[in-house]
Amino acid sequence: MKDDFSVAEVVTAISDLFLPRTCLVCGRQLGTREQHLCIYCSADIPFTRYWNRERNPMSDRFNAKIQQTLEEPGARYARNERYAYASALFFYNGDADYKKIPQALKYNYDIHAGEFFADCLGRHLAGSRHFSDVDTVIPVPLHWLRRWERGYNQAEVIGARLASALGARLRTDILFRARITRTQTRLSVAEKARNVASAFKVNTQNLKGIIRHILLVDDVFTTGATLHACFRALRDALPSDIRISIATLAVVDM
Ligand SMILES: [Zn+2]
Repeated sequence: MKDDFSVAEVVTAISDLFLPRTCLVCGRQLGTREQHLCIYCSADIPFTRYWNRERNPMSDRFNAKIQQTLEEPGARYARNERYAYASALFFYNGDADYKKIPQALKYNYDIHAGEFFADCLGRHLAGSRHFSDVDTVIPVPLHWLRRWERGYNQAEVIGARLASALGARLRTDILFRARITRTQTRLSVAEKARNVASAFKVNTQNLKGIIRHILLVDDVFTTGATLHACFRALRDALPSDIRISIATLAVVDM
């Protein structure tokens, strides 16, 4: 049995004496070898396992949005749009505390936690036949003013780790948020869709040299309105043989 401690673990143990680390989900104090979650919350993560399923409730919801757009008069992108793959690491329910993981990344500057769970999702995507050929990762952009206020873009934190797990390139020079959208939290589904439609623009100058399979990345999939607005902007600028899939840390279970 291996019970000797590495230098890093000793350092962690000493620093825990002064500044105890706690479980993101239940708040218990963490042991030296626990990272971000205690063993109980870690064992109970409500994983979606969507990465191995071509069709799942998240991808069905997203593809339904794409279909709706195809039926709009003047729809620009092709009728032969392929089914978009979609995956999230875990479920995010109003009554479960796992929503504290993306909240820690978005509101509490806990970038390490975001990276830790993004790495976990990255390992699953890299092992999935639907996602392993992703060659370009594009995070949902923040408006530059929001990014400047927060200091980072949470979707980019996740996207960088996914790109590294997939051996893909992280591209933040293609998709831009053209205007500030109101915060989405208190809006209805229809209001959210209106709020983000056409908020995104593509820099077509930077599209050269890509691409086979794009993975659009965000922190949480709720209605999918934001990711769909990004999808539309990209699809309008790209040929239909370039696949666009989506991945998030968490998905709201409907
Ligand atoms: Zn816990």
